[in-house]
Amino acid sequence: MTDLLRLENLSVHLLANHSSIPVLQDINFSVAEGEILAVVGESGCGKSLTSLALTRLLPEKVFSYHSGKILFQNKNVLEFSETELYSLRGGEIAYIFQDPFTSLNPIKKIKDQIIEPYIIHISQNKKEAIEKAEFLLGKVGITDIKDRMEAYPGQMSGGILQRISIAMSLMCNPKLLVADEPTSALDVTIQSQLVDLLMEIRKENKMSILFISHDIGLVSSISDRIIIMYAGQIVESGTVDSVMDAPLHPYTTALLGAIPTIGDLSHKRLDSIPGIVPAPIDFPKGCHFHARCTKALDICKTKNPNMTDREAQSVRCFLYEGEQTKNA
Ligand code: SF4
Repeated sequence: MTDLLRLENLSVHLLANHSSIPVLQDINFSVAEGEILAVVGESGCGKSLTSLALTRLLPEKVFSYHSGKILFQNKNVLEFSETELYSLRGGEIAYIFQDPFTSLNPIKKIKDQIIEPYIIHISQNKKEAIEKAEFLLGKVGITDIKDRMEAYPGQMSGGILQRISIAMSLMCNPKLLVADEPTSALDVTIQSQLVDLLMEIRKENKMSILFISHDIGLVSSISDRIIIMYAGQIVESGTVDSVMDAPLHPYTTALLGAIPTIGDLSHKRLDSIPGIVPAPIDFPKGCHFHARCTKALDICKTKNPNMTDREAQSVRCFLYEGEQTKNA
């Protein structure tokens, strides 16, 4: 499969109080055409920052792209002109955000919001844009389409609005859809309907999806590959089967231990991970996870591990570093 998107050693810094604080460090991953890649981690791990960095949506007065490359169709987004960025955002790469109540404009009719990307990126023909919007609203299961088009976001439920956001994201036939916690603000029943809908649309449109979530159970059922992030770094990546069946990083193991299993009647308490994800300003020396890790070694407090490649996985942990040399 050809790579649609590839991040190479991307590091992003936060500029604050005359200092430059790393918030994303050495991010490497790719998304192939038609692939679903899941990015998982607790809040504050850097998932959303990574998703916004892809199209340089992080305000450049506050964040600096310190090093690395963001290659979309082999062109480095960090070298894009304003015009190229404009066509990328909402055109070739579209986003669905967590809360449709905040991502949609409350004082603009749905009709005006949904046709906007089409008018900007494809054609100024308003009639054509409305026809496409009505078609897509039907596709995502909206009824009373003409009434919905004339309504305002505050007149609808979160589930309906998220369906409208999905339709809006598809107006320009994006090659990559970035779904940033698209269902976590919704009821569980609506969540599964929307995930099914996204899967159906992805199949029909042959687009790639970067699916960001804190819910490893949810994304494992729909993704091809998975990335686990912790405190601004990727700590494990691999195929969904390999990571779910044999997690390597202690953080991944802990995340999996916190998922309930349907049908498990043992009444065993779910595991929790003590402590919290440190803020970038407090990223510790050594392995970022060491204060919460049950397997920490002395070296973990002073040195940050590199990624070690295994057959279907890569992992950032001293428990595996040196394996390649040993096995060579
Ligand atoms: Fe735990 Fe050390 Fe591995 Fe970090 S490097 S995850 S502290 S064992």
